Amino acid sequence: MATIDGLPPLREVIRAHDLVAKKQLGQNFLLDLNLTAKIARMAGDLTGADVLEVGPGPGGLTRGLLAEGARRVLAVEKDARCLAALAEIQAAYPGRLEVLNADALEIDAAAHLTPPIKVVANLPYNVGTELLVRWLTPRTWPPFWDSLTLMFQKEVAERIVARPGGKAYGRLAILAQWRTDARIVMTLPPEAFTPPPKIHSAVVHLARLAEPRYPADAAILSRITAMAFNQRRKMLRASLKALAPDIEERLIAAGIQPTQRAEEVPLEGFCALARMMEK
Ligand code: SAM
Repeated sequence: MATIDGLPPLREVIRAHDLVAKKQLGQNFLLDLNLTAKIARMAGDLTGADVLEVGPGPGGLTRGLLAEGARRVLAVEKDARCLAALAEIQAAYPGRLEVLNADALEIDAAAHLTPPIKVVANLPYNVGTELLVRWLTPRTWPPFWDSLTLMFQKEVAERIVARPGGKAYGRLAILAQWRTDARIVMTLPPEAFTPPPKIHSAVVHLARLAEPRYPADAAILSRITAMAFNQRRKMLRASLKALAPDIEERLIAAGIQPTQRAEEVPLEGFCALARMMEK
């Protein structure tokens, strides 16, 4: 059967290269090229942008990104078994796909790319949250990327976009929403993947803000939210006691009741408290 890019259908690619999915590498592949093109479009206009893709696997999403017009794609894949399949895509899109056989946690991908840069990935679930936290906490802001369009377990996606007042709201929500606009743009059932995982998945799009939504020192904000949410059922005057002897006064000055719990405090409140801790 013909495909949009003239390359073989992904089921054939997987058969030809014997790419039996490995659980320990978080391999759940997307084989529907219409779906991968749709995910690529969620990243916005790709023409004129370099794209970092982590974990291309047999290359379904990679093909979507290239078909949707990405200027260049840097695909970082740990599993060397996928390289031959990716080489076929390189041949179909001369000069537009670079493949690095590496662990995404070990390399400086930004050094290989030219701005504007978008990150798009169907991430391995085991490293997804770790990479997201790294991308959200660079040494300086703005980061190397303009946007992140990432597949997560639905439960993790919900934590990224969570508002105050529920269980999902925590450090990840604060970290993401402080300096990006974060939205869930698509949810996918297990059957969308081969093999199907046990859980539902969701694509989150995070667009960086030029400036943080509210001023705060990144290290202080990070410390406060770690302490507050590590003991999320305690009142803040207790969970943050070790921060300063006069924590109650500082909380009140930041507009927060010392008897409130972390999950009741909006992002703005945590930023105000971070500023109060500098005084
Ligand atoms: N993008 C493909 C798709 O949508 O069909 C594959 C997605 S699969 C969920 C995750 C991919 O990430 C696998 O190909 C796996 O080998 C790769 N991977 C796992 N850990 C990695 C790491 N630390 N660095 C780079 N790639 C990794």
